[in-house]
Amino acid sequence: MIDAHCHLNFHSFEEDYDAVIAEAKKAGVHTIINTGTQVSSSKWAVDLAEKYERLYAVIGVHPHHADKVTTMHPEEQGWIAELEKLAKHPKVIGIGECGIDYYSYQSNGIVNPAIQEAIFIQQLELAHSQKLPLQIHTRTDEARKVTLAILKAHKHLLLDVPGMFHCMAGSLESLYQALDLGFSVGFDGNTTYAGTPPGEPLPLTDLIEKTPLERLVIETDSPYLTPMPDRGKRNTPASAILTARFIARIKNVSFEEIVEQTDKNVYTIFNL
Ligand SMILES: [Zn+2]
Ligand SMILES: [Zn+2]
Repeated sequence: MIDAHCHLNFHSFEEDYDAVIAEAKKAGVHTIINTGTQVSSSKWAVDLAEKYERLYAVIGVHPHHADKVTTMHPEEQGWIAELEKLAKHPKVIGIGECGIDYYSYQSNGIVNPAIQEAIFIQQLELAHSQKLPLQIHTRTDEARKVTLAILKAHKHLLLDVPGMFHCMAGSLESLYQALDLGFSVGFDGNTTYAGTPPGEPLPLTDLIEKTPLERLVIETDSPYLTPMPDRGKRNTPASAILTARFIARIKNVSFEEIVEQTDKNVYTIFNL
């Protein structure tokens, strides 16, 4: 199966990415999409994609880093030109993770919303000019409303199959609007956690139930969001299998069926 969104391009995998990729393959995860969160991690995702046949890269700037590419690091001012260069690489299959995030993390406060919007829109334009689908990151339902409003206002920049909302959460209203715009939605290991995710209105299982099978994608967001019972440990792409088993039970279909359909969905969105 495919892990549609993870970060083997992060420091956490610097020492052992080769073993992690081999372990994933052994577990049945043959294809991995690594996503950038800033210019440096996007470049690293491309380097990894060059090394391994079944690894692909999605490049972009996460809303957490939106201020760093403008005010904090003047040397990153050329970020959009850098991304444009990278986007032409044959193993780059999408733009992301980009979007709007209003969740206040311990490691990262809320970045000025106006800066987040400007950086997001520039990446929508880049995706349009390069004819690449999007991997959207958005957290809190308030931020999701802004993300959806921006996407609606820039509908002319979206592809017919526009991409996916990664790590979906939020209200049913947000889910339906994302689906209406043509997006698929990705679910991760945190679907196995009990209760409602912090800052969100509904348990993820409610959203999974309402997501049509042909719009559902499975991802790990490794090194984060390790499924139960290993929550808290470093996550790896191999755990996509556990999440697929969990989601298969919610959708009342077999594991084989969920894998076949969600892989097909990834191939519909991205040119792998
Ligand atoms: Zn994310
Ligand atoms: Zn991510």
